[in-house]
Amino acid sequence: MIPAQDAVAAPQETAAPQQTLSGYSRRLYLPTFLVAAAAAGLAWRGWQELSEFGPLRAIHAEQAELAGPAVISFVLAVFVIEQIRPAERHRVLARGHVLDLIYLLSYALIVVPITALIGNGFSGALLHAAPWMVLPRTSAVPHWLIVAAAVVAIDAMDWLAHLGNHKLNSLWRLHAVHHSQEELSILTTFRAHPLVHVSFLVSSLPVLALIANDATPAAVLTVYACLGALPHANVRWTYGRAGLLFISPAYHRIHHSATGRLDINLGTVLTAWDAATRRAVFPARGAEAVVTGLTGRPVPVEQTAGRARFGRVFLTQWVEPFTRWTNTVPPDGPARAVTVTADPLHQE
Ligand SMILES: [Zn+2]
Ligand SMILES: [Zn+2]
Repeated sequence: MIPAQDAVAAPQETAAPQQTLSGYSRRLYLPTFLVAAAAAGLAWRGWQELSEFGPLRAIHAEQAELAGPAVISFVLAVFVIEQIRPAERHRVLARGHVLDLIYLLSYALIVVPITALIGNGFSGALLHAAPWMVLPRTSAVPHWLIVAAAVVAIDAMDWLAHLGNHKLNSLWRLHAVHHSQEELSILTTFRAHPLVHVSFLVSSLPVLALIANDATPAAVLTVYACLGALPHANVRWTYGRAGLLFISPAYHRIHHSATGRLDINLGTVLTAWDAATRRAVFPARGAEAVVTGLTGRPVPVEQTAGRARFGRVFLTQWVEPFTRWTNTVPPDGPARAVTVTADPLHQE
């Protein structure tokens, strides 16, 4: 455990000092194009892998698992609870909520189908290259124990991918949109650049290794998705003593803090990986909710003064990782004191 006051600046491509907030240059950011090319290649392979089973059938199965009635009902129920006892008071139709709702729709209708194809392409390529990684079916170990081991392993891989998102600039550019939310809620779970899911392909390794043992039935992954969403809830829950083991909303909110270090509290469901690497900052009970967002708004956000333009902000957030960040901000400036109005869809 490390104290919050030891926090240092998060990795951002804002190191080179400049005099003005002049917006984005016309230069493109090559790593994002490479990630997009890899995603396209894997999606194409995934479509071919699924040609016998039926790609659309597979996509619908994935949608039912990760964005079906169970997940949506859970999210909406938590959203109602957030309005009753919020950690930070927002209007029901706050700009952050509306944009994240658009993200939720895009997740269910666009992102999950794409990631289903990419995931199947990745699995197919991996099984072709390394078929030995599939562990043989066993009856020596109780099935529930294999399922539990698979979930723990997936959580470890999610943590590793999340760490990569904070350590590699090319991935940080994709992950930054998730951190740009200044009105955190359960809906923020879905506020993610679609290409960021490429980095989370490592989480499918345990699924593949245990595929012969049916270790990750759809219902288990749906429950895991709900548990992974809950820490974004705008509530003060710390989970008490259980919060030492499981990621609570108060714990994950620290990860979204507008000030201080961001490469802490990286877990999805379990705190073990943060604790083992001294990246766990546990919330104090009853502590004031921290302000969330990114210092200086390097990613255009919906809270910028003026008329709300959700469609434009949404598209801008998807496009801007393809452009090089050249707008710089005061490294220690308050998150909401600087307004960056330029966006890559609308360059001067
Ligand atoms: Zn993060
Ligand atoms: Zn988050």
